[in-house]
Amino acid sequence: MTSQIHTPAPGTLIVISGPSGVGKGTICKALCEGNPDVVMSISATTRAPRSDDIDGVTYFFLTEEAFKAKIEEDAFLEYASVHGHYYGTPKAHVNDTLQSGKDVILEIDVDGAAQVRRAFPDALTIFIAPPSLDALNARLSGRGTETEEDKALRMNNAIGEIKEAHHYGYIVINDDLDQAVSDVMTIIRAQKFQAKTMDAVVRSMLDSNSTSN
Ligand code: 5GP
Repeated sequence: MTSQIHTPAPGTLIVISGPSGVGKGTICKALCEGNPDVVMSISATTRAPRSDDIDGVTYFFLTEEAFKAKIEEDAFLEYASVHGHYYGTPKAHVNDTLQSGKDVILEIDVDGAAQVRRAFPDALTIFIAPPSLDALNARLSGRGTETEEDKALRMNNAIGEIKEAHHYGYIVINDDLDQAVSDVMTIIRAQKFQAKTMDAVVRSMLDSNSTSN
């Protein structure tokens, strides 16, 4: 008897959202580390690069004019204005990667996630929430990458985003990073064994049985 478990071939589109500073970037990084079958989508944005940004690696940095031209070309799977700047997911890379059987993670805001839910009802959507608003405020201050004005804007937007969490398939509280990463990995793994996904595998087993009889 073999203990091999067959997982289905098509990649899963995974949406991860949550307020700025909640740790979703760190969680996404952990999901991809050492796992070539999970790929982060690289978004385009009109916001200015921060000191730790690398063009083409963390984001594709575009002028507003170039971003709007891409909207006209229908080049985005979704796009939204977040904290006063445009952010969007380039469509071609995501589609090609899913076709190759790899999972793709979109780390996007709640408006973008709503667009993805409409276009891809089977997408796996996970909202990362902070243990409290005070903890989120402390984390945003601790990373020190935002001005006071931008931090206040992000805290204000956080409340609006958390109000949208119930639209997601899953909500994970990032109180302890290792636990949150493990929880998200469990959710992604479970998605692959949903009956509607595994049905094709079970059917092919029955088909091969009927042809051999
Ligand atoms: P940051 O400026 O901190 O890099 O990103 C701000 C927010 O923009 C993130 O919290 C993330 O949810 C959102 N974001 C990043 N890329 C995209 C994207 O391609 N589409 C949408 N809708 N939101 C994005």
